[in-house]
Order: sequence, then C-alpha cells, then structure tokens
Amino acid sequence: MQIEIVEVGPRDGLQNEPTIVSTAAKLDLVADLLAAGVTRMEATSFVNPRRVPQMADADMLSASLPRGACRYIGLVLNGRGAERALEAGLDELGAVCVATDGLGIANQGQNSEESVASALAIIAAAQAAGRTGQVTIAASFGCPYEGEVDEGRVVAIAERLAEARPSEIALADTIGVAVPKAAGRLVRRVAEAVGPIPVRAHFHDTRNTGIANVWAAVEAGARTIDASLGGLGGCPFAKGAAGNVATEDVVYMLERSGVRTGLDLDALLAASERLSAVMGRALPAMLGRAGRFPATTSRS
Ligand code: ZN
Repeated sequence: MQIEIVEVGPRDGLQNEPTIVSTAAKLDLVADLLAAGVTRMEATSFVNPRRVPQMADADMLSASLPRGACRYIGLVLNGRGAERALEAGLDELGAVCVATDGLGIANQGQNSEESVASALAIIAAAQAAGRTGQVTIAASFGCPYEGEVDEGRVVAIAERLAEARPSEIALADTIGVAVPKAAGRLVRRVAEAVGPIPVRAHFHDTRNTGIANVWAAVEAGARTIDASLGGLGGCPFAKGAAGNVATEDVVYMLERSGVRTGLDLDALLAASERLSAVMGRALPAMLGRAGRFPATTSRS
C-alpha cells in the first residue's frame, strides 16, 4: 500500500507562529522537504495579511518555489484569494469550508452555508483556469464554539461539495478532538457518499490521538494524509490547540507497518532539526527525541 503525504508545514504549520519566519527561511524549509521526497505540499495561503501576517509573503514565496517534482497547494478562502493563487501559478487551490457557523465566522467571517458556497466558487475558478481545485471541511470532528459536530451534517456538506467535482475532499480535525473510532467512521461515511472523489484526512495532535487517527483513517480507506514537519501548527480560535500530526512520526508509523510513503525518514529528521533551530525551540514531534528504530543501516 502507498500513502501520499501532503506536507502542510509551510502553511498550517507556520501560520499561527507569532514570530514571522522570513521568506528565505521558508524556502530553505521547502528545499529540505523536497530533498526528503515530498511531492505535494501546502506551500502558503492567500488570505488577508492583516489577519494572518505570517502568510503576507504568499505571492513572493510562490514566485520562488522550485518547480518540477512537487505539486504546490495554495489555501484560499474567497474569490480574491483564488485570483491571487492562480496568478501566482500554484498547481492546486485548496478551498476551506467549515462544518459549523461558530468556527466559520471566527475563522473566515462566513457561516457554514456561506463557506460552502465560497468553496464551490473557488473549485469552479480553479477548474476554469485549468488547475486543480480541492476542498477541506474544517471542524469535521468538533467545534471550539459549538461542541460536537453531527456526522450527518459533515456528510451532507461533502455531498454538496462533490457536485462541483473537486479533486479531493479533506476532513479536518481542526482543534484535535477526534478519536480513532470516529475518524475511521467519518472517513468511511464520506467516502461512500462522494463516490469516486478521494478523501484526505487532516489531524491535529492536541489530545494525543492524532497519530492513532491517521492510522484509523488509513484503515478506513484514506490514501492521502496531511502532516507537518516537526508537528508544527495550531489554531488561534481553540484554546490549547496543538500542531498537526508530525510528518516524521507519521512516516515512521506507516513505513514500519509496511505502508510506503516515498519519503526519506533520515532527511525528514535532519530537516526537522533545522526547523527546530529556526523556530528556536523543541518541536512536538517524537521521533527525533528517541531516534528511528531500527537505527539507519547503511550498506557501505
Ligand atoms: Zn490544520
């Protein structure tokens, strides 16, 4: 089995960091990720720089991304963002709609319904420009304002989104409240509802269930998983919300279970160490602390 990892560190990982990371340092991170074999990456988001200062360099960064082996995703929330991402030449537009009104209004100033309409328009804009449009349903497993999110509501949103033929529909546990049983069940239900459209899974490891959720999603049939180098990331609207599942930890778990990812674990560990130095602190990922097992064997 092969799982595609979408590296989201340069966007979801960095976006809530209070210290602005320079464009040059971001490009170093991208280069490290490419060297580790990353072939699909959420590179940046085209949002209001006053709301998300860390992404203010989206246009400049996009112009400098090394082209070739990697497909770059630009996250967008509205028509203006879609225009900018298309002009910047990104391969894929990632739209975001929100399963609940509470988080929708806090995150993007739209209730759930408006955010779905907006996502449909973004997917259409990407397709009209000959690019790929995909969509993430945020707060699929729980909302910081409304609490439990009904699975049927998420399935119904996915069905509406599917009508626009996005290349993929992602289920995001934005605040890290999901548990494996629910993660697997929702991936299965949405996959059944949206027919041939693949389901991607996006987990934050706020309550130590992130990596178990990844495994449950893979067992339920998800073949694309989001992860962030070092486990960087957070959510400004949820108290204590922690980073994305760490790329190196996910790759370790999958590869050791016989699931190929195409990523080089040693290169990821080295990249994570460099990222930790850039951020000036230890990152949440676990693998770098203990090291891989068995230790790297080089047949020289
Ligand atoms: Zn996220």
